Amino acid sequence: IIRAERVRKSYGRTEVLRGIDLAVSAGEVVCVIGPSGSGKSTFLRCVNHLERLDGGRLYVNGELIGYRQRRGKIYEQSPRDVCRKRADIGMVFQHFELFPHMTVLQNLVLAPLIVRRRAKAEATARAEELLDKVGLADKIDSYPGQLSGGQQQRVAIARALCMRPRLMLFDEPTSALDPELVGEVLNVMRELASSGLTMVVVTHEMQFAREVADRVVFMDHGKVVEESAPHEFFAAPKTERAKAFLERLA
Ligand code: ATP
Ligand code: MG
Repeated sequence: IIRAERVRKSYGRTEVLRGIDLAVSAGEVVCVIGPSGSGKSTFLRCVNHLERLDGGRLYVNGELIGYRQRRGKIYEQSPRDVCRKRADIGMVFQHFELFPHMTVLQNLVLAPLIVRRRAKAEATARAEELLDKVGLADKIDSYPGQLSGGQQQRVAIARALCMRPRLMLFDEPTSALDPELVGEVLNVMRELASSGLTMVVVTHEMQFAREVADRVVFMDHGKVVEESAPHEFFAAPKTERAKAFLERLA
């Protein structure tokens, strides 16, 4: 579902991604970990068409990011292409990013109504089903400000799922939460993972990575330094940098 080949991205003179190679297959759950500033968020933003690449190639859902291919030729893509491609990707951020002036239900049905042009009844039914799944059926008419951080994040996850994404990206979804609220969000993510959804999760929750990930990817200084099965990675990291990173957390 994702194939990155030597992906590069700089901001001004700072090289943030220095040649990322990574492949994620359908149904896989990949946890991305690494020190602050290693480029984890930037990589997710590239996958979600929020950044322009400076080099390399990135395929998501079979299509080349930043460009479209037609009759063997490659063209720059239009904003409409970007919008269409992004509709298949769900993204959940550290700070929820719900629309504060809309109820939970309005937050959930907005994109399905506008981007997917779904009928209101259908979008509402789907929203109700997903709210039930994340345990918030009774909050459907609340405003985000009336919910706890953990509840808001579960709404944000349900909102992303309303679009029936083929791929879900999570950028430190629990980092902004009080410790006692982290578990409820991780539980929802755990269920999604076992439902077969393709997920890329940037996280500092090592226990979650250990239990849920099919693969752990360790990034440092804009590169994938190491990737392996979680039991291997946590028991015996192959590189010194990963070792040092894990020791600092312990
Ligand atoms: P963290 O764990 O702190 O979230 P990260 O691995 O997600 O870190 P990124 O957010 O991808 O790291 O940032 C990598 C580097 O890129 C950082 O040095 C950051 O300062 C820089 N950077 C990120 N976004 C921008 C931007 N819009 N303009 C300039 N520099 C940026
Ligand atoms: Mg980040």
